Amino acid sequence: MSTELVTPGHSPPLDTLIAMGIVIGVLQANPVARITVKKQGFTYRVTINEQVMWDKVFEALSERWLFEIKRLRYGMGAFYSAFGPQRGIKPVELSKRFEELVELAQKDFPRIAQEYSEDSQHVTREGRGGKRKKLYTAYLPIAPWAGKYFAGTYKYKEDPYALCPLCSFLAWSGLLSSSAVMTYVAEDKRGTIYAIPDPIDVSNYDLAFLALIFGEKKEKSFHNNIPLLAVPLLVLASGETIWHIRGKYGLYVWKYEGTGNFLSLKDFSQLPLSPLLDFVAGAKAKGKYLPKLIEYLASREGDPSLIALITECLIYGEPDPYTVLRNIWSLLSQARDKRAKRILRWLDKGVAEELFRVWKKYWEGHGTGGTPSYA
Ligand SMILES: [Zn+2]
Repeated sequence: MSTELVTPGHSPPLDTLIAMGIVIGVLQANPVARITVKKQGFTYRVTINEQVMWDKVFEALSERWLFEIKRLRYGMGAFYSAFGPQRGIKPVELSKRFEELVELAQKDFPRIAQEYSEDSQHVTREGRGGKRKKLYTAYLPIAPWAGKYFAGTYKYKEDPYALCPLCSFLAWSGLLSSSAVMTYVAEDKRGTIYAIPDPIDVSNYDLAFLALIFGEKKEKSFHNNIPLLAVPLLVLASGETIWHIRGKYGLYVWKYEGTGNFLSLKDFSQLPLSPLLDFVAGAKAKGKYLPKLIEYLASREGDPSLIALITECLIYGEPDPYTVLRNIWSLLSQARDKRAKRILRWLDKGVAEELFRVWKKYWEGHGTGGTPSYA
């Protein structure tokens, strides 16, 4: 007997986090479960080819929670860093709320199949001005569009965006397990960037692997202003070696930036992921310097906008690889410290060849300016 869930429809990236929370919980409870995720509009259909023991899923997920709640109490760990540049975070108070949330979610968990079914209209009781009895504020990290500081010109009423314990618990579980969270400080600015894979049509190991690539990138911090489009390569270039992942998937990235006491959502974007994975896998197979190159470009001496330029070349087709490589070469050759000779080697043949190969594969004869197919 198979089990089918449809995420509640708070729309991405909140539903994306919920879908990944479910996936990781199911796979942790039973690593050989067969599971498929298909995106449908603003929701995700999660199909599991067996009857799921939801109490085991809850247990698996709550283990990480209890660990992180302890760390939060001391103002550290994944929860704490997820709140990023928000001022006035009270770790002890917040850890109590999270503890309470775990208890409430446990009560709701056995009803998950009914609550997240095709026509349960679960979401209608939540959101802004939600009408349920026990609702939780969706904190900005998991629901960026829900804040009152949306993109400067949009003004929302100050009603918090409310979620039931189940949605809230699963979304945070998705954030803990499957999303990268990076912070940066540059002059008077401080920011936090979030990235999570968007499973459009993905199953099993590929889901677990995508979650691993992103989920392990936490509490990483930079001393430079990091543009949103630099983030995918900051996530992919380091850590796990990447092989070809089947299926269709994209990527959601968003960032908050604060100057003084003012905090705002700077960017929110959906990007194709295949050309980037393709490039990173190829460059890592042909040479060993991609991680060093990306790290240097993101550093104080480097220029993170050049990482964004690589992304643009791969996912929009412009600028072309010549321009990108020339720009990077020009920056590297300006290095004057004792590493100067070594630094030039970091732009190795693998990086250059793969940039051309992937760019050609997605863009030659397709024109530019659009987005490539996910195939
Ligand atoms: Zn809910």
